Amino acid sequence: MSGPIPRAGVLEIPMYVPGRSRAEGHEHVVKLSSNESALGTSEKAMAAYRALEGELHRYPDGSAADLREAIAGVHRADGDALDAENIVCGEGSDEIIHLLTAAYAGPGDEVLHSAHGFVMYKLSALGVGATPVAAPEREWTPDVDALLKRVTERTRLVFLSNPNPTGTYLPRRELVRLHSCLPAYVVLAIDAAYAEYVTRDDYASGLELVGAADNVVMTRTFSKAYGLAGLRLGWCYGPAGVVDVLNRLRGPFNVTAPAQAAGIAAIEDQAFVARARQHNETWRNWLESELRRLGVTYIPSVTNFVCAGFPDKEKTAAAAIEHMMGHGILVRDMNAYGLPNHARITIGLAEETRAVVRSLETFLG
Ligand SMILES: *Cc1c(COP(=O)(O)O)cnc(C)c1O
Repeated sequence: MSGPIPRAGVLEIPMYVPGRSRAEGHEHVVKLSSNESALGTSEKAMAAYRALEGELHRYPDGSAADLREAIAGVHRADGDALDAENIVCGEGSDEIIHLLTAAYAGPGDEVLHSAHGFVMYKLSALGVGATPVAAPEREWTPDVDALLKRVTERTRLVFLSNPNPTGTYLPRRELVRLHSCLPAYVVLAIDAAYAEYVTRDDYASGLELVGAADNVVMTRTFSKAYGLAGLRLGWCYGPAGVVDVLNRLRGPFNVTAPAQAAGIAAIEDQAFVARARQHNETWRNWLESELRRLGVTYIPSVTNFVCAGFPDKEKTAAAAIEHMMGHGILVRDMNAYGLPNHARITIGLAEETRAVVRSLETFLG
């Protein structure tokens, strides 16, 4: 054999399959396949991004100090005790997930997640040569007992999507119970990518847990409610020990200057986030009620998407997805999540959400 040979296992890592962005024969598509923001981006964030045009020859602030201050300030105003020193910013929360995995797991170690958790946990674990372990869910919701049952002395990390990529969530008391039953050597990483959309009283993003323990990290993203998916910006809040580890591992300039500037303006524009939450609540409720009218089952959602269920035969999810694509509407298949009879529909603008229902009507008709 000749030529370079990658580390054992690298070629066994499945490729991440992003949501579709093209439909044959359609110049303009309705893209509801990646849970992007229905309302686009805050005007203030766009202005901050444009204002940086003349500074592109400068390196960014490698510590993202102003952005971390802005994040901490906004959450403090919300009543949470959050210190900028305990925040690490990344190129999307994907990077934070990779860094956590690389920092705490390696060959022989196990990375635990629930069956329909974000696929990047598994891919990141495989990427560092660790073993991903999936715990079954209950009603498409992470099951604390099933997770705890799979903790071994090799477990290094537990990733919990809360909310889950299925649209469900674990209430605060279950989150607290999961943490309190984990051994101290296990890092609990709570991925709260959809936290801004959740309006339930018994939901907690994990912020308060982080403040009280040295093995809990919460990750957040600017890709969803803040509408900055294209800039790649995420962050985590963690105890000093974890923050120190991540800062050693990350690239010295991992967050671009435009991302930092837009991120500061975006997080300070909470009025935009409130509009996004309100729009989402209205149209998610409407979509769910229309699905009921059409006799389509769905997983009740607290997020900006709804997973609709279809039968195994004939009117399948794959056929529904194909049919919608014929109308230029792109939604997500859930094959990578082991839910092949579901289609995941992001809440879009009013007209986009109506178009989904019209398309489903003709599909089922
Ligand atoms: C979208 C999403 C992310 C965020 O990814 P970014 O890298 O920040 O764009 C993380 N976790 C979950 C569950 C998501 O759905």
